[in-house]
Amino acid sequence: MAPAPSSAPRVDPSWPLSSRCHQPPADGPAVQQPDLKVNEIFFSLQGESSHAGRPCLFVRLSYCNLRCSWCDSTYTFEEGRMMSIAEILDELCRHPCKLVEVTGGEPLVQEPSFALMTRLCDEGYEVLLETSGSLDISRVDPRVQRIIDIKCPGSGMVDRNLWSNLDLLRPRDEIKFVIADRNDYLWARDIIENHALQDRCTVLMSPVFDVLANVELAEWILADGLAVRYQLQMHKYIWDPSMRGV
Ligand code: SF4
Repeated sequence: MAPAPSSAPRVDPSWPLSSRCHQPPADGPAVQQPDLKVNEIFFSLQGESSHAGRPCLFVRLSYCNLRCSWCDSTYTFEEGRMMSIAEILDELCRHPCKLVEVTGGEPLVQEPSFALMTRLCDEGYEVLLETSGSLDISRVDPRVQRIIDIKCPGSGMVDRNLWSNLDLLRPRDEIKFVIADRNDYLWARDIIENHALQDRCTVLMSPVFDVLANVELAEWILADGLAVRYQLQMHKYIWDPSMRGV
């Protein structure tokens, strides 16, 4: 299916445009901010995490340092266009929403992503970061809510988990396991128990779409009484699962 045009149908013409809805940085003369390669910006429903179901803006940045076997966003690896932080803000403020997720690809691959998140917080956005868990999260603005993957063996990327990130967890953060099979589930269950993750933050667990049956994972969780939050990628049930920009 051809990709959906980036969010164009969801622009509210009554919503204020660009330069009227964000301010230049407060510290004296304008500072040239480096550009980021942006794969897409769109307005949709948040499909995952404890925010699932909320209208949400998405800034999907290009590039990823991983190659998960079940990746559903390989189009982010190279595609995109260079945008300044001001241009990203201009695009975002065309939509009536103050919840934004910075995602990818892997957003932390691009150094200016840290400045982008800080600027979004400064502009009054509630900011979520979706990261693969393979890169250091210590420099992420503390106002950002971090959703951190732990890559299971079935992804082929288990050796890339940066375990020191777990030392930085805060109660507002969320840890996400994407489960491809029973082996992944048992592995994730051990990690949760060994690191007491359920006592430290929200733990999300979801099946790989079209690989593991939804009901199988649900029954494993219930059989063990695992203290996790089961989730499906809601947007893939609302829209065509291959559709982009949703
Ligand atoms: S981290 Fe995400 S974007 Fe990167 S390869 Fe894995 S699933 Fe794809």
